[in-house]
Amino acid sequence: MRTSKSVESLKPSGIRKFFELIIGREDVISLGVGEPDFPVPWRIREEMIYSLEKGITSYTSNYGLYELRESIANYYEKFGVKCTAENVIVTTGVSEAVDIALRAILNPGEGVLIPEPCYVSYLPLTVLAGGVALSYPTTPDFIPTCEEMLKIAKKAESEGVKIKAVMINYPNNPTGVSYNRSILEEIADFAVEKDAVVISDEIYSELSYSFKHRSIASLEGMLERSVILNGFSKAYSMTGLRVGYAIAPEDIFNAMLKIHQYCMLCAPVISQIGAIEALRNGEKDLEEMRAEYIRRRNFFVKRIKNVFDVKKPDGAFYAFPSISKTGLDSEEFAKRLLFEKKVAVVPGSAFGDCGEGYIRCAYAVGMDKLKEAVERIVEFVESL
Ligand code: PLP
Repeated sequence: MRTSKSVESLKPSGIRKFFELIIGREDVISLGVGEPDFPVPWRIREEMIYSLEKGITSYTSNYGLYELRESIANYYEKFGVKCTAENVIVTTGVSEAVDIALRAILNPGEGVLIPEPCYVSYLPLTVLAGGVALSYPTTPDFIPTCEEMLKIAKKAESEGVKIKAVMINYPNNPTGVSYNRSILEEIADFAVEKDAVVISDEIYSELSYSFKHRSIASLEGMLERSVILNGFSKAYSMTGLRVGYAIAPEDIFNAMLKIHQYCMLCAPVISQIGAIEALRNGEKDLEEMRAEYIRRRNFFVKRIKNVFDVKKPDGAFYAFPSISKTGLDSEEFAKRLLFEKKVAVVPGSAFGDCGEGYIRCAYAVGMDKLKEAVERIVEFVESL
């Protein structure tokens, strides 16, 4: 075989596979892709256009623009974290940050705890980094518990696997659930007990509706053992601009920087300039988008509850209703909904075995389309 065994062992992304089916289909309403439907706020675009006109198209420092790193360090105080620009590395989206954090931390055969259902990249990137992905189930409300973490850790340790990192993501993709202080404390206690690093993907922190987002790194003693990942794709609708960041303690920061400088060099300069403007003046735009997501969430949950059990999402722009009463598995449900009613959702199984029996619906479409999509889902379920 000419290709690597670890790559061959990976399944293709369940989301992408599904979306190949609807590319170019104008007649389909998509609640599928996790991408905001708002344009990048005008003031951010204007700043980027202006810098392009000035011919700013060079590489930046590997670390990222200092002004951006400083703004991020100040901004994170809002989530309870006190750090300096020296802890901040600017990356090409959170996607890169997940990859280099795992590669910086893991030796071959070391374990990463991953609560399921979870974002699609954690497991494959752990494997590619030479680690062992230790998936464990969350509660029926999608909360990770110490009990399950200890259970999977015990089994892994008995097989000689050291627990090196604990991955979390809140508000969560695909469930929309977020973690309050007591849940974070439980995860933190576990990490301390195992002397593990917490990798905390907080990309939806600004889209937190039920309670104020707090970073796990804000808990006592946790800054030293946490790598915070965040970025501009979701909150500022900047998905294609590819800018994210990590906040990490010095040793992990240096290791991540080494990988980043060889594989990426730097995030796009224009996008970094846009990100500076987002943090400087983007609050009002953000508030407007947040208010619209809340309106859509409330509508969607109220209507879909007539046919499915669903937990009201605390944040992000996803709802994760249970389809178990239909008797269909999630892939079959999603395929039939697409072919019979022209609505795209993502089968829960794309987010790990624990996602089976659910579908992910992204309410990142305008209200008119959302209303039409829900009606079609209800019709479909009633026709079964
Ligand atoms: N992490 C989570 C939880 C996500 O949902 C996504 C995108 O959907 C990413 C990371 C990747 O984000 P980025 O566009 O910053 O690479």
